[in-house]
Amino acid sequence: MEPLSLPPQAADPAALRANIKDLTLPALGDWLAARGEKPFRARQVFQWLYQHRVASFDTMTSLSKSLRATLAEGFHLGEAEPVARSESADGSVKFAFALADGRQIETVLMPNLTHYTVCVSTQVGCAMGCDFCATAKMGLVRNLSPGEIVQQVVAAARAVQDGKIVRNVVFMGMGEPLHNFDNLKAALEILQSDHGFGLSARRLTVSTSGLVPAIRRYAREGLRANLAVSLNGVDDAVRARLMPVNRRWNIAALLDACREIPSHHRYRITFEYVLMAGLTDALEDAHRLVRLLHGFKCKVNLIPYNAYPGSPYRPPSLEHAQAFQRILLDRGLLATVRISKGQDIQAACGQLARAGRTASVTATTPAG
Ligand code: SAH
Ligand code: SF4
Repeated sequence: MEPLSLPPQAADPAALRANIKDLTLPALGDWLAARGEKPFRARQVFQWLYQHRVASFDTMTSLSKSLRATLAEGFHLGEAEPVARSESADGSVKFAFALADGRQIETVLMPNLTHYTVCVSTQVGCAMGCDFCATAKMGLVRNLSPGEIVQQVVAAARAVQDGKIVRNVVFMGMGEPLHNFDNLKAALEILQSDHGFGLSARRLTVSTSGLVPAIRRYAREGLRANLAVSLNGVDDAVRARLMPVNRRWNIAALLDACREIPSHHRYRITFEYVLMAGLTDALEDAHRLVRLLHGFKCKVNLIPYNAYPGSPYRPPSLEHAQAFQRILLDRGLLATVRISKGQDIQAACGQLARAGRTASVTATTPAG
């Protein structure tokens, strides 16, 4: 058979350019220095990207025209296209963004009294396979780059209309952040940069299902963010049934790794504990949790299970969750019951999942 002769393909210039938001400040400084630019230019670019949150190089008016052109030749701005937006009665907004390859991720903007919290995704899907979580059903599609993580905060901050600032970022969306360690680390650095969002380490929370070697690395490399550990069970049998990661690293190994996290006087590790009726919510489990966490400088975040279509579990009543909490409080353990935001729009913990590139968009309201 004759081979088909294809016309020569024009190179797509966008595909050759890098995402400028993947770069930390020092990396951008190096790139600029290699082109004869002064280091303070990198700081200016960061301010345009993360403080003014511009969507074109042309708008970076404190830079010369030629530098703007150089940047535009080397980079794109890593904008992600919003494909869906739904607003909850409690004021939280869930966004779906389409990435350059058509994959979709979700981000949630949540109002607090004085500020906003953004919940970001770190992967498309997740490899960890927890049996109670909607994201798990997707499997791991791919990691997000640092720029794809940071862009979620940029886009969410742009959507704020009441003048309050985005003060907290929680890495609790789709994906296991510590399974994407290098990109998480770069994203934290970018978000913390004084010339970027300038978020303090205390305002950043990374949630992990318990990847022990990665927790050790987190401790060793001194990552600056709060760590939240999803415990979700007080004995290995239950936890292993819910979270396959426990078959590899059990509760004792997990808690050992947590003890290695350097603790200065403000630092408190958070243990997340999802309350599933008849499975993890026995009052006896509360007593076991107290014993398990004895001696830890920590707090416990009790999360009543968020159901989603087809979900296998259900939450306990609020009264029961509070009775569980009371046992912890009475024994000196800091404990809160998280009333998840955005439940009515499937934006709460463990309800995030996007089908692949052919997903139809549901639950949208016009972006405004
Ligand atoms: N992968 C990370 C972060 C994302 S999940 C982790 O597992 O920690 C964030 C939190 O939501 C975790 O504590 C997880 O246990 C919890 N979660 C997952 N599915 C849930 C659901 N359906 N209802 C309530 N919490 C859930
Ligand atoms: Fe992944 Fe976290 Fe969901 Fe487990 S709970 S599947 S680690 S996103």
